[in-house]
Amino acid sequence: MAAAFELTDRPDWRDRFEITVYQVGWRLGGKCASGRNPRAHERIEEHGLHVLMGFYENTFRLIRGCYDELARRGLRRPGDPLATWQEALKPQSFVVLEENVNGRWIHWPFDFGVKPGLPGDDPGPRDAWDVILDILTLMGDEFRRSREARRPARLLGRIIGTIAGWVTGLLSPMRLASDSPAPPGPAGLDTLPEWLRDQVRERVGAELTNIDLRAEDGLLEIARRIARRTPGGGALEPRDWPGEDVICLVLGEFMRRLWQEAGKEIARDDRTRRLVIMMSLGYAIVRGIFKDGVLKERDGRAVLDWRAIDDYDLRDWLRKHLESLPGSPDDVINSAPVRGVYDLVFGYRGGVYPKPGVPGNYDLAAGTALDVMLRLVLTYKGAVYWKMQAGMGDVVLAPFYEVLRGRGVRFEFFHRVKNLGLSPDKGSVASILLGRQVTLKNGEYQPLVRIKGLPCWPSEPVYEYLDDEESRALQDQKIDLESHWTSWQDREEITLKAGEDFDAAILAISIGALPHVCPELIRERAEWREMVARVLTVQTQAVQLWLRPDLSALGWRLKSPVMDGYGQPYNAWADMTDVVAREDWPHDHRPGSLAYLCGPLEDAPVIPPADSPGFAAQEKGRVERTAVEWLKSHCRHLWPEAILPGTAEELNWDLLIDPEGSQGQARFKSQYYRANINPSDRYVLSVKGSSRYRLRPDESGLSNLYLAGDWTDNGINVGCVEAAVVSGVEAARSIRVGGRVGGRVGGRVGGRDNGRSQGDSAKIASIRRESSASVRRVGE
Ligand SMILES: Cc1cc2nc3c(=O)[nH]c(=O)nc-3n(C[C@H](O)[C@H](O)[C@H](O)COP(=O)(O)OP(=O)(O)OC[C@H]3O[C@@H](n4cnc5c(N)ncnc54)[C@H](O)[C@@H]3O)c2cc1C
Repeated sequence: MAAAFELTDRPDWRDRFEITVYQVGWRLGGKCASGRNPRAHERIEEHGLHVLMGFYENTFRLIRGCYDELARRGLRRPGDPLATWQEALKPQSFVVLEENVNGRWIHWPFDFGVKPGLPGDDPGPRDAWDVILDILTLMGDEFRRSREARRPARLLGRIIGTIAGWVTGLLSPMRLASDSPAPPGPAGLDTLPEWLRDQVRERVGAELTNIDLRAEDGLLEIARRIARRTPGGGALEPRDWPGEDVICLVLGEFMRRLWQEAGKEIARDDRTRRLVIMMSLGYAIVRGIFKDGVLKERDGRAVLDWRAIDDYDLRDWLRKHLESLPGSPDDVINSAPVRGVYDLVFGYRGGVYPKPGVPGNYDLAAGTALDVMLRLVLTYKGAVYWKMQAGMGDVVLAPFYEVLRGRGVRFEFFHRVKNLGLSPDKGSVASILLGRQVTLKNGEYQPLVRIKGLPCWPSEPVYEYLDDEESRALQDQKIDLESHWTSWQDREEITLKAGEDFDAAILAISIGALPHVCPELIRERAEWREMVARVLTVQTQAVQLWLRPDLSALGWRLKSPVMDGYGQPYNAWADMTDVVAREDWPHDHRPGSLAYLCGPLEDAPVIPPADSPGFAAQEKGRVERTAVEWLKSHCRHLWPEAILPGTAEELNWDLLIDPEGSQGQARFKSQYYRANINPSDRYVLSVKGSSRYRLRPDESGLSNLYLAGDWTDNGINVGCVEAAVVSGVEAARSIRVGGRVGGRVGGRVGGRDNGRSQGDSAKIASIRRESSASVRRVGE
């Protein structure tokens, strides 16, 4: 969608292109698709929990443009439901991580502040030192907050006081370089090596003038000031003084002291533990940036080359930089913020999450993960998360569909891409084989249905447009036209030929399905073979529970959360009660709250070929069993008032809304749950060492093939909407400028310059150029 939106974003686009989008099944969206279920009060059924992050500058830019155009075209009028993007997406600043301390779960709430601006605004220039400075500032803030907490835990007060005394001592000799008198205290500068001591005196001394050396965070402030002054901003030049070493050393001393004082208490005192964890993470990241060559100079600018550490798993890399501190790195590596990162991106190879007796296949490229996490925390606009006020299909995909239709893009639903055939010289796509899944009655299909005034995707095809006999057969046999494992035969095969039917194609099917749709390409080209072998994917599972009580009656005492880091496999929970208003519940069945849960799903021991139609039902059964088990063992911590009497942890099943009125645990069957197992629905992982094998949107190696999806090398390289959008826009821009599609020409360094855009979904778009000049150029 992003590619199509970008390609058609100029008034003259029709002079150059004809665009057709081929989509398997009845709806757009892929992993972001959602549907309305008419048999269950038009409830929203999603592939999983989806939130947009406040740093998705390209995604929001496109969404904002799309909603503006909806209004211009009269497709949304004032007063229509969710008529503007700000009605469709609401800021969510409250996030909860779950700590597990000695087997006991504890909520760790975070209230991310509201930042100026709106997502999609121009982010403005930032260089590597801005990032480093922000991390140091956060560390300082964290430290100060602990000190200033209204009723500091006595223990924490003592720890901070001790560190304060030590910092004063350490810094007092440095004070010699400044005018003000040094406070009394033991000398500490001699803990620095001589060469560095001189540098510090000479270069940093003047920097100390305005620092209150009695402040506990004086050392942090020095590190921060050094960082601030380093990017060639005047007196201090990065090349001729060891600012990085000073920062590492100063921070290292500070952290050693903190661990010595606080390490013993981290299992006993929540506030101390959290302070130590956050400070240690900041320290490890800053130290690692300097020590592992992440900080580089390129064209006179300081940049962060995160790929320098992508061969490490994040946990291993953190361990390496924490090892010099007293205490066990495990306390940080197994902490809620680190587990939460893995959970956020389903970072478990094969879906093997940790459980009793199984350590879990943690695998997440350190650089890629840190890049995204720092963007998430440091660069969001407005709120850290933005929550959809209906299904993602309703608030994102439907508006894009409506606008693109309005612009003149053609959509062919029910077309499954079956094969890309190569030209004899293997240098281009010669043909695209499609399976037409159904017959349309009048050749026309309207995919959206209006629910309470909002155009939405249904959870099944709109059968009235389909041939009557086929429609009956599909319903009687409960055929899922999105499923890879199906007994349904295509009605017809269609071959699109290069030069006749298309001049260029965008492959936007996700990487898990590529072995099925382009086996020849993978066989013929080593870089494709490597990409498909190295860029791994994982199955996921999702559950939605419509509950009678509201959040507080369930016993949840905090604000409405997005939560992460909880008991596997449903490690993430979001309260999505807001979207109930968009569903169509009768008064006596109206849910008081709506919970979305999701997490990884371990691969089945054998994943059978497509002619095994029972496999999808079997896997859904596995999700059902897992979910019921989880709801019997994880509810008290979240919803203490929702426990089945006489049990310790089990959900009181009567609280689920079941229009069928089943009894007990059987009520779970009336909820929505799914196994995301279709090859293209598998979540794209960022396993260590894989980024370099990704191909860029313009790097297919075939002269008429462009790539879009979160699996490409898009500069973010994490499975998220922003990555898919960036890739789509990059693909479109390459086509628009008539760019040559290159082969792989060595790695590109991930970073913020790598793309701009929004989007998602899409299948394969065939693009026909009307101007023969541009046809020739692109095909070269
Ligand atoms: C459970 C879950 C939760 C997630 N939560 C978030 C979140 O909160 N925030 C976030 O930013 N990201 C989230 N993601 C990731 C996000 O969904 C993906 O990054 C995004 O959907 C990737 O888009 P894509 O276009 O690359 O691939 P996809 O979304 O997979 O789209 C692929 C498209 O190809 C089509 N297709 C597949 N096979 C064929 C075929 N043979 N013929 C024709 N068409 C075909 C599909 O129908 C689909 O339209 C989540 C993912 C999952 C699984």
